Amino acid sequence: MKHICKKNHRYNPMFTILPDNQGQTGRHKCPGCAFEMAMLNKSQGIPACNDDSVLAELPESQAGTVRHKDAFAAYQLAYKY
Ligand SMILES: [Zn+2]
Repeated sequence: MKHICKKNHRYNPMFTILPDNQGQTGRHKCPGCAFEMAMLNKSQGIPACNDDSVLAELPESQAGTVRHKDAFAAYQLAYKY
């Protein structure tokens, strides 16, 4: 069974700046969850992962501003923040 993200961050306008996903692991993952995970990891001193396999366990997203956005880009954005 797939996890679908129901959080309000799906509608965060910040994520409209993200590029559309070109189809890797991050394709259907929730960029909001990816961003939050990255912020958490960063606060714990965990270095950024270089590939989107880090997103594999995140819930998917099918609605809101994050739809079809690149979750890995959101992850990387959090590390630049
Ligand atoms: Zn989410």
